[in-house]
Amino acid sequence: MCGIVGYVGKKKAVPVLVEGLKQLEYRGYDSAGVSVIGSGIETVKATGKVAVLENKLGGNDFGSMVGIAHTRWATHGKPSDRNSHPHGDCSGKISLVHNGIIENYRELRDLLVAKEHKFSSDTDSEVVAHLIEEFAKKLKFQDAVLAALNEIRGTYGLAILNSDEPEKIYAARLGSPLLLGVGKNENIVASDASAIVKYTDKVVYLDDGEMAVVGSDSYEVVTIKNKKIQKKIDTLDWSIEQAQKQGFDHFMLKEIFEQPEAVSNAMLGRLLVKEGMANLGGLKDVDERLKGINRIIISSCGTSYYAGLIGEYMLEEFAGIPVEVEYASEFRYRSPVIDKNTAVLAISQSGETADTLAAIREAKSKGALALGIVNVVGSTIARETDAGVYNIAGPEIGVASTKAFTSQLTILALLTLYLGRQRGMSEATGKKIASELKKIPKYIEGILSQKNDIKKIAKKLDKYSNLLYLGRKYNFPIALEGALKIKEISYVHAEGYAAGEMKHGPIALIDKNFPSVFVVPKDSVYEKTISAIEEIKARGGKIIAIATEGDKEIAKLADEIIYIPKTLEMLTPLVAVVPLQLLAYYVGIGKGYDVDKPRNLAKSVTVE
Ligand code: GLU
Repeated sequence: MCGIVGYVGKKKAVPVLVEGLKQLEYRGYDSAGVSVIGSGIETVKATGKVAVLENKLGGNDFGSMVGIAHTRWATHGKPSDRNSHPHGDCSGKISLVHNGIIENYRELRDLLVAKEHKFSSDTDSEVVAHLIEEFAKKLKFQDAVLAALNEIRGTYGLAILNSDEPEKIYAARLGSPLLLGVGKNENIVASDASAIVKYTDKVVYLDDGEMAVVGSDSYEVVTIKNKKIQKKIDTLDWSIEQAQKQGFDHFMLKEIFEQPEAVSNAMLGRLLVKEGMANLGGLKDVDERLKGINRIIISSCGTSYYAGLIGEYMLEEFAGIPVEVEYASEFRYRSPVIDKNTAVLAISQSGETADTLAAIREAKSKGALALGIVNVVGSTIARETDAGVYNIAGPEIGVASTKAFTSQLTILALLTLYLGRQRGMSEATGKKIASELKKIPKYIEGILSQKNDIKKIAKKLDKYSNLLYLGRKYNFPIALEGALKIKEISYVHAEGYAAGEMKHGPIALIDKNFPSVFVVPKDSVYEKTISAIEEIKARGGKIIAIATEGDKEIAKLADEIIYIPKTLEMLTPLVAVVPLQLLAYYVGIGKGYDVDKPRNLAKSVTVE
């Protein structure tokens, strides 16, 4: 995770770096720090959010025009001033920031300690600075960096300063995202485009095993085996406005409200309502191969995993393809049986999720077709998959995913149409799905307009410290997602469960202090879910229901009801999740938490 930014140019570096860190803060906020080259290396760092660092800097820019900065999501060593990045060597000439994990850091640290290196943190990262210092005793600095990179195991995005070369930044990547923004008389290194977009839309994506040596007017890229390479310059399609709050109190709320647009954008030019089909340009190149696919494995993490579970139901019911959904973190290590007739579909908002990326690599090595549903254009998963579909949802900054999820569901519905029509789905069914999918943005708008009612219900939930979320069939994963959202944002313990499974265990928890949130639209399992509600009521449990407009029966059973519009069963998750997002948001706000930066979490999980 973590955010990295580096600047070399003609502007004062500190304000650019601090501004960049603010854009990247969603990637980690255990601590923040900067190093710039002034008369020597000047480093300021502090535990906590970027605002604490800014305060500590007190407007001092050291007159420098080159520097690096970091927001940390701690993996090795607790969040503290001493463990904050940047980290230096013994001589004070080297300073670096690191994203990732150096797996052999203990062994390297022992070797370096034996050579009298003095360490000042508990991190794995610091070892890299000392290792470079050690190699630089005999080699030119650039060669010393390469030598160090060849010794370390694990993952890294690195930005490095050397006070003997005050107009350069070294940047290297292996398994952690890093890109270079190419400006006029200035260049910016960052782990994420959002820190670059304000200065330039021209970027170079570093690939694994590459290092860039960056000056203000030029840059050179070599592999870590020191082979020069020519890199393509890409153009970013995100605007700075998209990465700002635009009047909303939080990114999370802004992104919840962007869902009608995100869902529309996902369908734009892809949904063919009249033909009852989907046109997915990103899959055209593998169209023939797709026809021979007899199994899909969806591999993802967190909220994207729940999107995958819904995709499984859609694809099996309407496209007739066997689908399995797996946590990427399990899939990558458990020797799955895969062949060339299997498609492995990665779902990842950032396109950088370490486990999902590893799953895709595993799948490719076994000959499977690797597909992706990814939001961030040019991200590693987007580049490493054989084909895929972009979300086009714009930047998602809130750590708790919202619009990316509904966008992923939209694309899974499009994929169902696409593959379904290839495999005998009738035109009539295709048209029905397509015309109803088209209406979803309007339906979501209707739910968003009920935000004040949802806020009132959130207030009533405030006093409970446990919640059970239940749903069945297409809305079982929505129960999981609703519970995850409230856990992430409000730190309320919540369990998501299949409504039909509830009687096999969780019902034992129910009493008047343990309410249940039921996702109970009028669908094919409505009556079954109603029975589960009765069972909870019989034990004194309170009921909050997400139900279909016009459902009178539910009014007799539930203590609180949020209504959603009637739509096709396979599309109900797209509307049912919205009130649950708002509920989590308002419970979190009610408790006074920073919902955009929930404790212990960070966006874009680039560590294992
Ligand atoms: N492993 C490093 C640390 O714990 C870097 C973590 C990060 O990516 O923020 O300091």
